Amino acid sequence: MKIKVDFDLCESNALCEAMAPEVFELDDDDFLQMHTEQTTDENIANVRRAVAACPRAAISLVEE
Ligand code: SF4
Repeated sequence: MKIKVDFDLCESNALCEAMAPEVFELDDDDFLQMHTEQTTDENIANVRRAVAACPRAAISLVEE
């Protein structure tokens, strides 16, 4: 699946980074960067936690 972030909704509170630091990271300007947009067997559990943790519902998983 693809990991999509609606950057218009994102408020840069880093909750997704706390759940899945291998995928999400706030840069020095507090802008959310993604290390990958692809789910893997290794990151999917953490990505789902990030989706659930985002208070803005800014992260979604899209079937390819
Ligand atoms: S948890 Fe949601 S609002 Fe917070 S930084 Fe991540 S995508 Fe943005």
